[in-house]
Amino acid sequence: MQEKKNIVVPGRPKKRLFLGLLLGATALWAVVLYALWSIMQPGLAALATWLPAVVGGVFAALIGLVLLGILNIVLAINQLPFLRLCQKQSYALINALFPWAVRLGRPFGIKRRQLEGSFIAVSNVLFQRQHIQVPADRLLVVTPHCLQLATCPRKITRDPHNCQQCGGCDIGALVALADEMGFHFFVATGGTLARQIVYTTRPQAVLAIACERDLMSGIQDVYPLPAVGVLNIRPNGPCYNTHVDVAAVRRELEQIILPGTAHPRTQKEAILGPMQRKEDDD
Ligand code: SF4
Repeated sequence: MQEKKNIVVPGRPKKRLFLGLLLGATALWAVVLYALWSIMQPGLAALATWLPAVVGGVFAALIGLVLLGILNIVLAINQLPFLRLCQKQSYALINALFPWAVRLGRPFGIKRRQLEGSFIAVSNVLFQRQHIQVPADRLLVVTPHCLQLATCPRKITRDPHNCQQCGGCDIGALVALADEMGFHFFVATGGTLARQIVYTTRPQAVLAIACERDLMSGIQDVYPLPAVGVLNIRPNGPCYNTHVDVAAVRRELEQIILPGTAHPRTQKEAILGPMQRKEDDD
């Protein structure tokens, strides 16, 4: 009998799922802080009569700030005017509340992957609303090794140009895109290597192709570097012969790359980061 595969083709993750649970997590924290304040109140009053009001005010201000942050994200994803000044704070808020949102969603059968997909959708909208544009050679595109055809013998993690662009997988199309536009392209075998290449290439923005879990951690890891995520397609289950919508990647790239800075590069150096060049020198 043929083994049933866990086929995953990303749909359109609902942004409101993540935002709803963020609100829930905030409400939970409001209850916890209120309970804490109630317990502390007699002791605080014994120290100074004005102390309970001050501590209560600080707690209330914290919750108010979080609610304002969530409101700012809601405004941003609905294409309404929002406070750009609070972008970094919005990311920080999302990162801090995400684990609580996951816990809160569990009893309702909301899977972590759904929430991660929703997080990426929200994060991508925040990225787009910032109208981030960088020169082609300051953009890094990272993709996982599972995008390569499992039976392909070419060693592309060291140098993506070892790909013969045979059409057997989407790596060839991405190498061709990198040659055409001039961005840095790297195939990472894991999160550690991906972080290393970000550190050594020092890009101004990152486009990452991966599954929900890796995108979620990757976007958080490179923060405050702006990063946009494109979900991979897993017709053979996770981490095996995965695909990506290359047309969607191209559309994202056309928005991110500063007009006039995309140019074809044929030299091997163009596609490699400083890290690879350093390895070659060693
Ligand atoms: S496009 Fe062909 S040569 Fe390149 S990585 Fe995929 S299977 Fe290998």
